Amino acid sequence: MLLIDSHCHLDFPDFDHDREVVIARSQTLGVQKMVVAGITRQHWPRLWNTVSNTEGLYGAFGLHPYFLAEHQDTDLQALREQLQGYQHHPKLCAVGEIGLDFFLKDLDPARQIHLFEQQVAIAAEFNLPVIIHSRRANAQVTAILKKAKLPRAGIIHAFSGSYEEAMEYIKLGFLLGFGGAATWSRATRLQSVLKRLPLDSIALETDSPDMSPEWLAGQRNSPEHLPRICQHLAQIYGVSAATFAAHTSTNVRCLFGW
Ligand SMILES: [Zn+2]
Repeated sequence: MLLIDSHCHLDFPDFDHDREVVIARSQTLGVQKMVVAGITRQHWPRLWNTVSNTEGLYGAFGLHPYFLAEHQDTDLQALREQLQGYQHHPKLCAVGEIGLDFFLKDLDPARQIHLFEQQVAIAAEFNLPVIIHSRRANAQVTAILKKAKLPRAGIIHAFSGSYEEAMEYIKLGFLLGFGGAATWSRATRLQSVLKRLPLDSIALETDSPDMSPEWLAGQRNSPEHLPRICQHLAQIYGVSAATFAAHTSTNVRCLFGW
């Protein structure tokens, strides 16, 4: 069973003491590739250092809405320069993690929208897919993506909306990322949405060290838990884990051109 973790943060200090061991263990368990998503300009070098030193790791650069207070307008030009520098590098796979977070009330929506729209335009400029964070913001994110008409679309990471919202993204060519959140027994609404989605629109992810599956409540998540997450989601979906793994991996491979 070969798997791809389409969204994680292996560059976070949570992994400083055992990063290499975690990656090796994950790969032994079949997690062949892992995408490390960017959060702030300051942390792009740390991310690139993590992915460029390790086989199977890929990176995305972006300004995450959660860290809004840290972003400057000059970071947009820095993003452009960063992408120019690594434009044809095989380890660069997307612009991300970018998006809108309307769940947290202290994040200025207008400022978020400005940075998101600009980054979507930059992704189009460089013909890169986007990795999107959307919390309580699916209508606004969809409207911005509709206008942008990105040639390579991307992934809606940790999708948590309705079936109708999912179908809007799918119409735009996007994959929907599922991981630990859908394994919780109380996540019945999310599970019923997952069951109705076409298999060719689903991507697997961990968002590690965050979004732990139910059996790891309160503990650090990591890509080595993806095989069990896959088994769990496959069961909900009603197919074998092998089928679920094969389809979701192919979806991600097609998106990134691997
Ligand atoms: Zn993330």
